[in-house]
Amino acid sequence: MVSSDQLPKNYDFAVVEERWRNTWRDEDHYFDRNSKKPQFVIDTPPPYPTGNFHIGNALNWCYIDFFARYKRMKGYNVMFPQGWDCHGLPTEVKVEELNHITKNDVSREEFRKMCRELTEKNIEQMRLTLRRMAFSTDWSNEYITMTPKYYSKTQLSFLRMLKSGYIYQDEHPANYCTRCETAIAFAEVTYEDRETQLNFFDFDGVEIATTRPELLVACVAVAVHPADDRYHNLKGKSLKVPLFGNSVPIVQDEAVDPKFGSGAVMICTFGDKQDVHWWKQHNLPLRKAIDRKGKMTEISGKYTGLSTTECRKAILLDMKAAGILKKQEKLEQRVGTCWRCKTPIEILSGRQWFIRIKQQEIRDAAHQIKWYPQHMLLRMENWIDQMEWDWCISRQRIFATPIPVWFCTKCGEIVVPDEKDLPCDPTLTKPMHSCPKCGGNEFKGEEDVLDTWMDSSISVLNVTGWDGSGKPKLFPAQIRPQGHDIIRTWAFYSILRSVALTGSKPWDQILVNGMVLGEDGFKMSKSRGNVIVPEELVGRYGADALRQWAATGAALGSDIMFSWNDVIAASRFQTKMWNIARFALIQLEKEGIDENAPVTALTDRWLLARLSDTVASVSAAMENYEFDEALKGIREFAWDVLADNYIELAKGRLYSEGASRKSACRVLYAAYDTLCRMLAPFIPYFAEECYSYLNKGSVHKQPWVAFTYDDVAARAEGDLLVKVVAEVRKYKHDNGLALNAPLGKFTVYAPHTVNDEGDTARTLNADVHWRTDKAHLDKVVSGIDFNRSVVGPTFRKDAGAFMEAVKALPAEELAHPLKTIKVNGKDLDVPENAFTPKYSYVEEGAKVDVITIGDVIVTIAQ
Ligand SMILES: [Zn+2]
Ligand SMILES: [Zn+2]
Repeated sequence: MVSSDQLPKNYDFAVVEERWRNTWRDEDHYFDRNSKKPQFVIDTPPPYPTGNFHIGNALNWCYIDFFARYKRMKGYNVMFPQGWDCHGLPTEVKVEELNHITKNDVSREEFRKMCRELTEKNIEQMRLTLRRMAFSTDWSNEYITMTPKYYSKTQLSFLRMLKSGYIYQDEHPANYCTRCETAIAFAEVTYEDRETQLNFFDFDGVEIATTRPELLVACVAVAVHPADDRYHNLKGKSLKVPLFGNSVPIVQDEAVDPKFGSGAVMICTFGDKQDVHWWKQHNLPLRKAIDRKGKMTEISGKYTGLSTTECRKAILLDMKAAGILKKQEKLEQRVGTCWRCKTPIEILSGRQWFIRIKQQEIRDAAHQIKWYPQHMLLRMENWIDQMEWDWCISRQRIFATPIPVWFCTKCGEIVVPDEKDLPCDPTLTKPMHSCPKCGGNEFKGEEDVLDTWMDSSISVLNVTGWDGSGKPKLFPAQIRPQGHDIIRTWAFYSILRSVALTGSKPWDQILVNGMVLGEDGFKMSKSRGNVIVPEELVGRYGADALRQWAATGAALGSDIMFSWNDVIAASRFQTKMWNIARFALIQLEKEGIDENAPVTALTDRWLLARLSDTVASVSAAMENYEFDEALKGIREFAWDVLADNYIELAKGRLYSEGASRKSACRVLYAAYDTLCRMLAPFIPYFAEECYSYLNKGSVHKQPWVAFTYDDVAARAEGDLLVKVVAEVRKYKHDNGLALNAPLGKFTVYAPHTVNDEGDTARTLNADVHWRTDKAHLDKVVSGIDFNRSVVGPTFRKDAGAFMEAVKALPAEELAHPLKTIKVNGKDLDVPENAFTPKYSYVEEGAKVDVITIGDVIVTIAQ
């Protein structure tokens, strides 16, 4: 134990946190591949290296660190790797901005290099934040998806899935962002409500309503319901497209809603998913009207080269001029937009790579995983159920994992590298063999690259050591922690890829956390000015305070609103805990620690019983990842049970000498040691600091608390005693007495006596008698409370006389409501609620005050 002289009076988080950060060693958190302990591998989310570790990341990582530290204390061999998901558009855009170039100004390789350099710099910055937050990261298992080591695994997984038929390429419509100039997957489409215009126009004698007149040139058919009598005569006929003049067939389809507009709709390639469906169903031709930059193609005649918005305006003007625009109505519409830049997506047909979605096998694997909280599984199921299209994995970008494929220029055959030759950039190299089909030696490397989710969806395979040679030894991981916003992407894709590549589920458990909202309850955004930066918070209140906020802010899976008050409360708790620690350390230093000293006094036994309850409930909460419950339980014990009740009760004994003091010190030690260990996962700096004064070694190397103490009587009697003390303190307060003011004789009538070794008497400064017999109390009227707001208005000038008359009544008449009373010779009606008699009690001839607590009666001599 460290001498209490060295104990600073105040807890200075800045000094303490920095000191421990410089003391702790990375090696202590390395996963041990030779360990005999059970493994606990975490499939940590690899954040996008923007350079800023945002508050949502912080919440996510706090949860991970809570259970990583807890599991280590529980004897697990924990792997808490740190990944970085590098590839993607935001970095490309940033590089363009910073260097004042566009990606086409330099070579692909040069551009990639610039992206890599920026990413490295950002990662370095984010590592510092991770360290400051005291996350117990396993840096020996760090991975960076843009490194050849990692992306050769992404490429290997591509080749394996190509071979097993999961991956195919096809000329097929896909969601496309014309601003990002790339295909995107359905999971990356977000929906926004917008107001648009529904335009009714004459289509060769049939009325058509459309929100996208610019697609008129891409019209390939007009569809009507087969049972719609209005169009019977049109069956098998064709119509002339207005303004363009080409002919399109009339097709009949059950999916047309005859009640919408005129009941006739135009099918364009492509306005929406329904168009794609009809286009396939009726084997219609393809008319590509919009190119990858969002401009009208040359089939658009005079509109060629216009943007879709310009074209829409021009066509509407021309329709008006031609007299075929009949009316326009406002329409609320849900528009699919690009999740990164919010540009409305187009459905464009082109050659893309796809992964086949086998719904049933993903559903089966999802069901074999334990979901925390359970209801998040439903979200996954809903997403699986609505999957209609395969996953488009090709992107027309640069900073990404290359698709390891060449095309034979002679016969078009797809040629792939040998697995041993990975990684490979087919735009820079040639295959080692000639074309297996035609023997040709001319190839064109695939320029499309892979969706970033193709990198990150094998994170679990990477951390468990997958190299293609079967199921890795560490697979499946024990847990995947992530936010609910990426269930349909990261969770979904990871399950898909695990099943496709290993035949099994990726993890035993998945833990889904909520999102962090600003103090105003809205999503944090720069424009709202409600963004909280973790570094700012840590600078003002320390990492431990932020970690407490993360733990207590919300139940698992619920969104959590940021609140400075919660952070301040966290910091106050640390101040309180520090005061408790100092008090305990000074006592323990005087007495020495004797873990075997007999525990005698009731309050001591009571504290151990309550400590045992707390350990049980906190441990159960930790097992279920209910961090809010766990930390609340610890705080309540420390603050209410230990500080406000126990220490107040035991102080007298601690300030005296003898066996009773030894008993109290032993209990203080148990509480102190247990609190340090239970707090270690949540506030690692603070717990380490407190523990360092108590014992040698790091609290983070101690086992999780296994403390149990069973004493039913002590729990019940102690609870009663604490209640009595609390009620009497309240009585003192209500009667304007100081808390330490002497109270005189004080009797507790309880079902059984309690031997508290004088704790109650000392705490209350009273002469306490515990009795088990029945209290003999005489009730006497000691006064009357008049309700002046009733008496005054009712009796006016007679009010005084009325009150005198009431006071003169015998006690038994006061207790029962009277109908009338004689005042100045008149019988007056007594209104309801005019007065209440006040009683006082007499016990053995002396006046006493009485407090009732359940079936316990306390009398205090006046
Ligand atoms: Zn976009
Ligand atoms: Zn060939």
